[in-house]
Amino acid sequence: TIEVAQFSDWMRRYAGVIHENAAMLTELDSAIGDADHGSNMDRGMSAVVAALEAGEFASGADLFKKIGMTLVSSVGGASGPLYGTFFLRFGGKLGDGPVDAQALGVALRAGVEGIVQRGKAEVGDKTMIDAWAPALEAYDAAAPDGLDAALRAAAEAGAGGRDAATPLVARKGRASYLGERSAGHQDPGATSSVLLLEAAAATLA
Ligand code: ADP
Ligand code: MG
Ligand code: MG
Repeated sequence: TIEVAQFSDWMRRYAGVIHENAAMLTELDSAIGDADHGSNMDRGMSAVVAALEAGEFASGADLFKKIGMTLVSSVGGASGPLYGTFFLRFGGKLGDGPVDAQALGVALRAGVEGIVQRGKAEVGDKTMIDAWAPALEAYDAAAPDGLDAALRAAAEAGAGGRDAATPLVARKGRASYLGERSAGHQDPGATSSVLLLEAAAATLA
């Protein structure tokens, strides 16, 4: 099962990975958006790390409430409210008991449902949902084999979904303004979502 300290490690690791990949994420966003996804996420995750350092968190629910609110308030653009909602909903489902593979899967799904509610994207719209939807399916299929197997499967399937979205025409978000010209470019938000899943596999299992 997962301890609060591990959730905190997940977020610190993700902040580091985002910082290292900020230029790449912004480069992807420069092709089909406004060239700020890396800087948006880097600013948001730096604020998250500062909030983790400043506070004590008794539960995963407390921790992710703070993280979600921090992202919503520090990141302008689509990704702030979307990731913020993800973490708020995710934390809200963690409950007080030990978090095992099954419970984490339930929380991840709730987080993604929050993104869908907020952004109204479906699979095939070329957004972060193209990474998340197959990731959740793979997670659930592997959850009986334990956390490590489930998170690895989710990260791998998420990467597959991210890549499958590359040839598609965007139907949501800023990239949709480009119409057909959005085809052939990797989605920045799907890319940062896979990084989040990879960081989870490295810290939570
Ligand atoms: P902005 O587009 O406002 O500049 P970012 O560049 O930080 O925000 O984030 C862009 C990413 O947000 C996209 O690559 C896409 O994955 C995701 N995104 C945008 N709109 C939506 C939506 N409606 N639903 C889900 N994800 C979305
Ligand atoms: Mg952008
Ligand atoms: Mg922007």
